[in-house]
Amino acid sequence: MRAILLGPPGAGKGTQAARLSERYGVPAISTGDIFRANVGGGTGLGLQAKEYMNAGALVPDSITNAMVKDRLSQDDVGNGFLLDGYPRNPDQAVELDLMLGDLGVKLDVVLELTADFDEVTQRLLGRALKEGRADDTEDVIRHRLEVYAESTAPLTAFYEGRGLLVQIDGMGEIDDVTERLVAAVNSLSTP
Ligand code: ADP
Repeated sequence: MRAILLGPPGAGKGTQAARLSERYGVPAISTGDIFRANVGGGTGLGLQAKEYMNAGALVPDSITNAMVKDRLSQDDVGNGFLLDGYPRNPDQAVELDLMLGDLGVKLDVVLELTADFDEVTQRLLGRALKEGRADDTEDVIRHRLEVYAESTAPLTAFYEGRGLLVQIDGMGEIDDVTERLVAAVNSLSTP
């Protein structure tokens, strides 16, 4: 399975990506997690990304695209992958197409987790208390949601035009959302 998980911050992409990864035996690749690991480890990449992340802005495409290209060149993506948090704007989507073309593979599906903006804001504020992520303050959350609406949401139309988009209601119990995703993925492979 080669899939993209789309959806606003706080829609539960990370949680669901981990579950789908286990179920289908493909790695979940979260650009946010890779960036956070680099920030935590104090690497050059982390230093480049940190300010943007703390502001809730996108890390520049040149940095992000190079990182994803490197990740997709690793051996464990042979059976597929689940991208969580990438692409996040139209230029990244074009870049991803080029990378996949070079690898000689195609996307199977783009799963969009839909979520109510008020609900995701509340979830993110709750997560701020538990995990203390530097970008989970109210102002930064608002900005991340704006960036999503402006830069990332247009991707749904892009992938819908290619017949790849499946929308899944991301509200409700975590298990229920997982079941909806699994049903959507399984219905793809049934002839
Ligand atoms: P969320 O979806 O909750 O905002 P992520 O962990 O996906 O959280 O992303 C956290 C931050 O990492 C983003 O606000 C952004 O600064 C950076 N980031 C992650 N993915 C990308 C990407 N594809 N392009 C640019 N920046 C990214």
